[in-house]
Amino acid sequence: MYSQAITTSIFDLFKVGPGPSSSHTIGPMKAAYDFLTEINRLPTSFISETLQIEIYLYGSLSATGKGHGTDRAIIAGLLGWKPDACDPVKFLKILKNTDDKYPVKFHNHLIAVNADSFHFERGKYDSPHANTMVLKLKDESTILLEHEYYSIGGGFIYRKGEKQHPKNAINPPYPYTSMKELKAHLNREKISLTELMLANEMALTGVSKKEIEQKVDGILDFMHKAVKRGLKDKRVLPGTIKLRRKAPLLYERAKNLAITSDSFLIFLNAYCLAASEENAAGNIVVTAPTSGASGVIPGITYLIKNHFHYSPSLMRDGMWAAAAIGFLVKHNASISGAEMGCMGEIGTASAMAAAMLTYCATKDINAMESAAEIGIEHHLGMTCDPIGGYVQIPCIERNAMGAVKSYNAFLLATSGDSSLQKISFDSVIKVMKATGKDMSKKYKETSEAGLALSATEC
Ligand code: SF4
Repeated sequence: MYSQAITTSIFDLFKVGPGPSSSHTIGPMKAAYDFLTEINRLPTSFISETLQIEIYLYGSLSATGKGHGTDRAIIAGLLGWKPDACDPVKFLKILKNTDDKYPVKFHNHLIAVNADSFHFERGKYDSPHANTMVLKLKDESTILLEHEYYSIGGGFIYRKGEKQHPKNAINPPYPYTSMKELKAHLNREKISLTELMLANEMALTGVSKKEIEQKVDGILDFMHKAVKRGLKDKRVLPGTIKLRRKAPLLYERAKNLAITSDSFLIFLNAYCLAASEENAAGNIVVTAPTSGASGVIPGITYLIKNHFHYSPSLMRDGMWAAAAIGFLVKHNASISGAEMGCMGEIGTASAMAAAMLTYCATKDINAMESAAEIGIEHHLGMTCDPIGGYVQIPCIERNAMGAVKSYNAFLLATSGDSSLQKISFDSVIKVMKATGKDMSKKYKETSEAGLALSATEC
């Protein structure tokens, strides 16, 4: 019954790394790092002065990879950088000068890669995943090593020939694949969601409760640092749109309007914009569950910490609720904009935040399910059409909208009677998956339609 039980760690869902896109930046960086490890498994007898590395990008990676910094991320990975230890200042300098060459270490030999090593192969290969990249190590025309990688959203990757959901050798004590199964454990065992999620996390990672809690606090800290930086930075965002940051202005307005009933929403908007603008600038953010959607949960958690004064323990409870929802969407549909459109990114983030708010306030799992279901339901069909391939328009404001919707989903779920909710969370995920499948490729992170075509008006 549980052969495909969810075995994702909370720290795989909430990952620290540079913006602007988990599928186009963090995933490719991890893939390139993996390729670097693989080539260094080859014998030194392969060393030659004519070695070269070629990188082929397909699907959405070829369409929006430039604006999303995919080439920069791949070079960083080939240089041995990992997303969570990446210096954003150095990262943003990669390929600033297109003539620059970067030395990739193959044992004690260096192979130069540069802008010419990349091939943006738009529409040339009907790859099995929307975000596909192929890395090759060649000696003249002989291919010494080739790997095909799929970046499936949220910074998750897998290689051709591997399983997208590999079976973990360790079985979690409370296996589940659906909300129904998750709730059955809670009802049967009479434990809280936090206890269940912690028990699974400890079993899967072998890490102690104390360490896990410290790491969750650390993730929240990274999120809130992004919000704080974004509230102060007034610089224009990188890229050809020349978009001005809005968060500092909104934050000032919110402080001046602090006695009005709207003020908490303006604060929330400012917090979400701040983290999203940091992401758009290529600075360090936390995938929640993706980089494109890295403003919703940081905005909500900054609000509940600083305005509602929630304790660290209550905030952690919220993180477990958000993680449970993120796991279920990732496992049963997808959190990738290239597969689901924006409902996979902002829709999922909004549902996670709605679950967080509801679980923190009520500890009622049925109300939490309703809030998450409402969060997804009202993002169904939302397209991904970023202007110029940058994670800026509509992405930044969309994070603020996703957070406000999550707050309303929380109010709708908790002000009424959640037993009257007709659509289950499991059902809405099925609808999401089917909708994503039916959606035209033009609306799935390719910048070929919708708002992306209004770029000339910007
Ligand atoms: S439109 Fe949504 S899914 Fe697409 S890049 Fe922007 S935030 Fe991500």
